[in-house]
Amino acid sequence: MDTRRWVRGGCVGKGSFGMVSLALDRANGGIFAVKSVCLNSAPPHAIAALENEIRLLSSLDSPHVIAYLGEDVTEEPSRGGRCRNLHLEYLPHGTLADAAAARKLGEHEIRDYARSIALALQYLHFTAGVVHGDIKGRNVLLRSAPGMARLSDFGSARRLSDVSAKVRGSGTPLWMAPEVARGEAVTRASDVWSLGCTVIEMADRVRRPWGELRSRSNASAQLYQIGFGKDVPKFPVGLSWTARDFLDKCLKRDPTERWSCEQLLQHSFLSNSLNEAGPSPRSVLSFAESELEFGHEGDDYDDDDGGKCGYEDSLGAESSRARERIRQLAPMVRSNWTDEGWVSVRG
Ligand code: ATP
Repeated sequence: MDTRRWVRGGCVGKGSFGMVSLALDRANGGIFAVKSVCLNSAPPHAIAALENEIRLLSSLDSPHVIAYLGEDVTEEPSRGGRCRNLHLEYLPHGTLADAAAARKLGEHEIRDYARSIALALQYLHFTAGVVHGDIKGRNVLLRSAPGMARLSDFGSARRLSDVSAKVRGSGTPLWMAPEVARGEAVTRASDVWSLGCTVIEMADRVRRPWGELRSRSNASAQLYQIGFGKDVPKFPVGLSWTARDFLDKCLKRDPTERWSCEQLLQHSFLSNSLNEAGPSPRSVLSFAESELEFGHEGDDYDDDDGGKCGYEDSLGAESSRARERIRQLAPMVRSNWTDEGWVSVRG
């Protein structure tokens, strides 16, 4: 126990488990962040969460994950007695949730942040053998380079090999996968669901995931609806076909149908930086598959400017009929197509 090595500064954030302060290293003048709980007064689950975070973070090493700098116990009468502290690199640019709430993010920014999170999850899931358990914008800290971020808050994380921790899931209700909402364990697939919810959070700063549940039910009713209902969160209007397809791969209610992070990093939404407008159609039949681009039934809610986003209006009735006809024809024709017999006409 050594209170003289660093000085606690102002509070930079508060979570449900503890508070995060700025700290000054007396030896070299360096600034870092300290996440603390008071051992005398904090509830046991808060202390356990910080111990869990210290144990896990100290074993991780990735540019996509907040850097662990150390831990200690300090005697601080002004804070209620003995404090358990986790030392972290300090990222002063706020969280992804702050950024999404402050302004409308462009799709290229959404894609870059989604890629940062997917890279963090790829490292956790396949190199470190860890699941995060609480992916959401508030747990993603921004870096100085645009579109770059680091994953933080490992209080709900667990090792995939830790059988005893598989009993009960945790996390934040509206970002939780259906199986976790039903009380099952957090898995790689449930992190992927939460990544999908975080993309929605970035793209729709008003409704965020499950906007319709947020306004009219309490947390346990929300959990019931997410866990036992048949729906997935609504995809925000205005996203490209590629982004919506990416969401579709994350937000499958059946966890076995969700894509892994490795697959998601190959998805054209994350892998291709020149696809803002979505993939080029390869034939007229491709238009039959692009319906998501034009909104779903019930998607005509208010946009940020208070206007309506009814896409069918702008298409016109004529175009809608043509689209419907193509959609009916597509399955009949496509099933007979093969690659055989085609001749390359461009070297
Ligand atoms: P939760 O309620 O999500 O479980 P928590 O108690 O686990 O929260 P954190 O999410 O780790 O706490 O941190 C709370 C807030 O403190 C963050 O949302 C962020 O604003 C700020 N914060 C945390 N770590 C850092 C850091 N390393 N650098 C800068 N700010 C940070």
